[in-house]
Amino acid sequence: MVGRVAIGWAFVVSSVLLFFVFLAVLFVGGSGSLGAQGTESEEAADSGGDRQETQGPEAQGGEEGRGSGEEPSEPEAVGADESGMVMVLEYHRVGGDPGLAPDWTISPEDFRAQLELLHENDYYPINLRDLLDNRVDVPAGKTPVVLTFDDSSDTQFTMVQDGEGWVPDPDGAVGILQQFHEENPDWPMSATFFVLPEADPPNDLFGQPELAGEKLEFLVENGMEVGNHTLYHANLAQSAPEEVQRQLALANAEIQSHLPDYEVVSLSPPFGEYPQDMSLIRSGSWEGEDYEMQGAVEVAGGATVPPGHRQFDPYRIPRIQAEPHKGHLAELLAHFEANPEDRYVSDGDPETVTVPEENRDQIDGDALRQSDTELRAY
Ligand SMILES: [Zn+2]
Repeated sequence: MVGRVAIGWAFVVSSVLLFFVFLAVLFVGGSGSLGAQGTESEEAADSGGDRQETQGPEAQGGEEGRGSGEEPSEPEAVGADESGMVMVLEYHRVGGDPGLAPDWTISPEDFRAQLELLHENDYYPINLRDLLDNRVDVPAGKTPVVLTFDDSSDTQFTMVQDGEGWVPDPDGAVGILQQFHEENPDWPMSATFFVLPEADPPNDLFGQPELAGEKLEFLVENGMEVGNHTLYHANLAQSAPEEVQRQLALANAEIQSHLPDYEVVSLSPPFGEYPQDMSLIRSGSWEGEDYEMQGAVEVAGGATVPPGHRQFDPYRIPRIQAEPHKGHLAELLAHFEANPEDRYVSDGDPETVTVPEENRDQIDGDALRQSDTELRAY
């Protein structure tokens, strides 16, 4: 008898263990596209905090549901509305000498404080290319936010030596993002860097030319995106069509000389100036080098409607200048706090676009078909 009971228990225990291994395998498989992410237990631990009070345990259930192939949580439970607005933030200098460009500088302390604030308010970073693809892979109940950095200055990414070799300067943009991710594993290192491969130092791929390749690899390996800001900050409105194509094709080619298989699909036209012939923003070529951009960002304009929305123009995505003295980010955060119905809230499933019934008309069915996503109204 004792033997049979013991064997019975062993069977139950091993079955339960196997089930958890099975879940863990599914979870890892399901979150692969996001790059750097926390482990399941870290994310679960985080979800046990204050966030549950505001959005309920169902919000996190949605994420697990995605991993295990079940239906995601009820959209009502998380207030999913994927027709709402998304913030694309625009940064330039992070720290460094504030006297050089006071209007375009955020201090390391202020940048960390903004990340804290976004994290506490259920925002979740994605790369611009994920917005362009309409693959918004964000946990249920959270709002995507895109952090973009223009001009590839040394203040964004200088490598310094520590005991283990070269590491990002902890007070630059990349170092701060890395540290914030280590402290908050549920906040991936997603951000889009619009770089200038041939600008004068220190804007030539973040200064330190001998480390340019290593830096670009670091960004991509850690889940971030490298985008095109022309070769050296050309004004595309004042450039001949050939010059527009030369700037865009060769900037891509230089990035790809460091990242051979990498496709550059996002563009930030310097000064927010577009060429007369808008088709040159989308695609073109120069001496055998082709480029194809899936989208472009402006230099101002506020929050954007999301992909799939009838008014979404991927080549005219407005941004929010995030330097705190301008007050734009604080203003928008306050607006979304007071008007939560204006805010994009994820259903946790990148393959569906979920909206309340009354917002169904805002969604463009053709755009959804092109991105292979499905509309769900409730
Ligand atoms: Zn710029």
